[in-house]
Amino acid sequence: MTRAAPSLRETNLSKLPIQRFDVLVLGGGINGAVSAAALAARGAKVALIERGDFASVTSQQSSNLAWGGIKYLETWEFQLVRKLCRARNALIRAYPSAVQEIRFFTSVARGFRHGRLKLWLGALLYWVFGSFFTRPPRLLSNADIEREEPTVETRGLQGGFEYSDAYLHDNDARFVWGFVRAALDRGCVAANYVEALASTRSAQGWATRARDAVSGREFTIASTLLINACGPYADEVNRRDGVSTAHRHVFSKGIHVIVDPVTAHRRVLTFFADDGRMFFVIPMQQKTCIGTTDTRVERPEVEVAAEDRRFVLDNINKRLRLPRPLSEADIIAERCGVRPLVVAGSANGNRDWTQLSRKHVIETDASRGRLTVFGGKLTDCINVGEEICAEVERLGVQLPFRAHVWYGEPAEAVRDEYFHQARLMDLDALTVPRASEKLSTRLWRRYGSEALGLLEAIRRDPRQAEAIIETSEYLRCELDEAARREMVVKLEDFLRRRSKIALVVRHEDIRAAPGLREACRILFGDEADARIEEYFGGGPGAAVLGEDRIA
Ligand SMILES: Cc1cc2nc3c(=O)[nH]c(=O)nc-3n(C[C@H](O)[C@H](O)[C@H](O)COP(=O)(O)OP(=O)(O)OC[C@H]3O[C@@H](n4cnc5c(N)ncnc54)[C@H](O)[C@@H]3O)c2cc1C
Repeated sequence: MTRAAPSLRETNLSKLPIQRFDVLVLGGGINGAVSAAALAARGAKVALIERGDFASVTSQQSSNLAWGGIKYLETWEFQLVRKLCRARNALIRAYPSAVQEIRFFTSVARGFRHGRLKLWLGALLYWVFGSFFTRPPRLLSNADIEREEPTVETRGLQGGFEYSDAYLHDNDARFVWGFVRAALDRGCVAANYVEALASTRSAQGWATRARDAVSGREFTIASTLLINACGPYADEVNRRDGVSTAHRHVFSKGIHVIVDPVTAHRRVLTFFADDGRMFFVIPMQQKTCIGTTDTRVERPEVEVAAEDRRFVLDNINKRLRLPRPLSEADIIAERCGVRPLVVAGSANGNRDWTQLSRKHVIETDASRGRLTVFGGKLTDCINVGEEICAEVERLGVQLPFRAHVWYGEPAEAVRDEYFHQARLMDLDALTVPRASEKLSTRLWRRYGSEALGLLEAIRRDPRQAEAIIETSEYLRCELDEAARREMVVKLEDFLRRRSKIALVVRHEDIRAAPGLREACRILFGDEADARIEEYFGGGPGAAVLGEDRIA
């Protein structure tokens, strides 16, 4: 079988050194991806390079929530809450199948610093700040909680309240990939596993020395403007290039663990943990994701420590009525990353540490044509894309399609056409047993208008609808799609970020899955065995940043 997967990447790699770009974006997390997608759609000539895989650092370690920042009401940051609520609403509106409203079923312990009535009033205010876009909040008595969510331990509770925010159905990394793919569709030259080594400025603009991590080859990329969207590494990249900024990052580490489902309901169970912070039990496909923690750290490279794991398990065991307490053996996978939090000047962020807000700042060095994105949240990504376009125009790059809407799912007519065709061919009858949802729904959410091509592939050859890796829902035609269009370089790129198999299936079960080798042949052709060895060879060792420990 011939190896098809790298062709898109290789083609792009060959273009990077020979073309001149209006803008080069460094870093393919959410902020780099939306910058590239927005600029490409508005007509700029854009390149995007990412040192690892797209979304392989912070943007794969979030809580997968699009939220309006209810907790910032406590610190009276009303403007921020209003802004984040609007950002959340815009995402729900633009991505009706990928970003969905979900209820946060919140319990409040007796003796907590706020009473449940006050918290419920806060939730009402939150709803108002959210322009009544979601379902209204509700006050819960202990009897309501007992009746509706018997898994919640009500001893010691004063009741609770319920409110709405939203969650990313397919996970953060897949959401980011959607923006990278959209940028590629509009002519952006993007490549993963390409590291920016150093950028220098001359009268002609920026020259960025880069290295392809796969071949080791080095080359130079020319651009008029440079956007540093390196997340927690943005300060390091600026320092290396001799650029000083008015802002910088401090880091807060957060972990999540994934376990078998603790509730049958599709809702987020919300608690206040022993440290007083909000603590979530979030649905992830047919599993449950629990977290998070908030610990100040000095460096972005982090791993889950025994005390983090203990904190999460102890907190959840105290608050749920489970047949037996969750233990480390129940952990299917873990996530761990740092939030890059923006601080101004020499402020060290020590004051009200856990309250440091997650706003973003785009700092522009107009004389040198360089922008740095600091901080932020996935939730705010549309605003980041819009602000980047405004700044880039201000710096003199023409955006011929300045009114173009660069985000969102395909038009309703395309959606209707897709579901009509899916019905005609009785696609949902092919849904694999124990799937978490109907096949037609999942394909639409993951592939948008490309899903029409998948229907065509299945009509042509019904074997394309076979699930290859047992224990996962992914079909042969999806692997084919990933190989052709999703720039999968390593097996981890597919298992952890294009799909979420590595989060919901145990490492050993993936390794033992009969279809794994065949799946890898589709993804990697002759290199299948090498990619399997690369992924499983090291065993389930400790995590470094962006590489989860899989239990
Ligand atoms: C535990 C936790 C929970 C969170 N929960 C939420 C949530 O529920 N909702 C929400 O909205 N937000 C949440 N966030 C925040 C959100 O995840 C981050 O703000 C966001 O992902 C940051 O994206 P980024 O693009 O700035 O950084 P990153 O995703 O880290 O991307 C930066 C990229 O730059 C690349 N890079 C670095 N150096 C170079 C170089 N020299 N050359 C090329 N590339 C380079 C890196 O490899 C990396 O991929 C959470 C964060 C954490 C840690």
